[in-house]
Amino acid sequence: MLRLSRRRLLTLGGSALIGTLPAPRITNPFTLGVASGDPLPDGILLWTRLAPKPLEPAGGLPPAEYPVEWQVSENDTFTKVIRTGTATAFPAYGHSVHADVSGLRPATEYFYRFRSQGHLSPIGRTRTAPAKTAAPRALRFAVASCQAYTDGYYDAWRHLTAEELDVVFFLGDYVYEGAINSVGGSRMDSSLRLPDTFELETDTLDLYRMRYALYRTDPDLQAAHAAFPWILTWDDHEVQDNYAGDAPRFTTIPENDFLVRRANAYRAYWENQPLRWPRQPAGPDMSLHRRFRFGDLAHAYVLDTRQYRTDQACGDGLRAGCDDRNNPDRTLLGAGQRDWLLRRMGRSEARWNLLAQQVMMAECRYGGTAGRLDMDKWDGYAADRRRILEMAAVEPGTVVISGDIHNNYAADLRVDFGRPETAAVGVELVGTSITSGGDGSDTTPQLDMQRAFNPHLRLANGQRGYLRCELGRDSIRADYRVMSEVTRRGGTVSTRASFVSERVRPGLVTA
Ligand code: FE
Ligand code: CA
Repeated sequence: MLRLSRRRLLTLGGSALIGTLPAPRITNPFTLGVASGDPLPDGILLWTRLAPKPLEPAGGLPPAEYPVEWQVSENDTFTKVIRTGTATAFPAYGHSVHADVSGLRPATEYFYRFRSQGHLSPIGRTRTAPAKTAAPRALRFAVASCQAYTDGYYDAWRHLTAEELDVVFFLGDYVYEGAINSVGGSRMDSSLRLPDTFELETDTLDLYRMRYALYRTDPDLQAAHAAFPWILTWDDHEVQDNYAGDAPRFTTIPENDFLVRRANAYRAYWENQPLRWPRQPAGPDMSLHRRFRFGDLAHAYVLDTRQYRTDQACGDGLRAGCDDRNNPDRTLLGAGQRDWLLRRMGRSEARWNLLAQQVMMAECRYGGTAGRLDMDKWDGYAADRRRILEMAAVEPGTVVISGDIHNNYAADLRVDFGRPETAAVGVELVGTSITSGGDGSDTTPQLDMQRAFNPHLRLANGQRGYLRCELGRDSIRADYRVMSEVTRRGGTVSTRASFVSERVRPGLVTA
């Protein structure tokens, strides 16, 4: 391993670079930006991926290993470099780099960058988590999900980058698997000319890799990654729409064939996200649920509601009168993850339990006879939901953050949603999509009907955007940030609604 002393780096300066291998010269390999994630009190995971030609298989690189140096500095001019190292970009992992940096101070801002083959990466900024024993006054975070490249521009990311945040939670649908035409779908970007391979639905490892590469070429998304550490989980589209565990959307495909596809998708996911090495998948299995601690203020449980779930009840979709959804054998989390979560929630020493997960947890009746429910959400897995909400009833401070549905909702959570007179046991903040679904609108007949059928919903909004939250010692505040438009460049952001909820006596109140 090549180790550079601080003195030597300072002598060389920012742009004088060290060639360590007699490898063929390559053009700028840092086309996909940089990222950091999974913050710990003493460490952070730094990510990049070498891809001089990002839209080609293997990113335009030969099957060679490339050393990639990294630096962590206390300032953005890199005159206070405190950690350095060299990682290897392996062709087997799509020339991705996952540098697990330790020995950092808690609750501290750092800057980082990479260099390889005579090229310097953009600079990223990140922040470590507070010390385990700390009593932070607040945690500032954003909630985002669902960024279909073909549905619009990423101005929401540009606005999010300007917020003051400790961490970004991304709750799934980072990429979508469907075909993309040569001009990027409704972006209709005349400067873009995508290779024909993008017209193929992703199923092979190379196609998934190129899909991540396309998304990550976007400068607004790159800026959001470079501005904050992210904590990510996936939903369905990182593999295939509405898949459930081993079951593909269309069950005409043999299960073993689907598991090959799932393995390719999970592998590309790990390669392309700031996740530590132990998260690496083994075939079609990848352990993604994990916990993060923010001192005594909050424990965040990042869940995976796709990999272990029972197939959707009653044939999926919107259903009324589906008794199977209450079957206690049906599970959204899988027994292992569910018991892991309940055990930790039950003996949490933090003031808040923050559940970062994909699909809407609150009951959501769609109207029609008896009120139809969506079998892909927690409504289709009522026994698992009840166990979690019963735990929330005895452990104060439950906040659920969710994505998937391309709408904003704010919901009081009750053990029995049919009894609105009972006390709320927590709150759910459902964040809308970054782009998926196009421009959207504040209200629709369906959103109005949902408000009418679900008295626990305080907001139902169909615009694009993200949530900005501040978790304090005794209350949480959520601002629903919505975009004027996404199908043209330059959309502006505004706050559509703001709510607060108390930790001990939860219930959303307009702020
Ligand atoms: Fe989505
Ligand atoms: Ca989804």
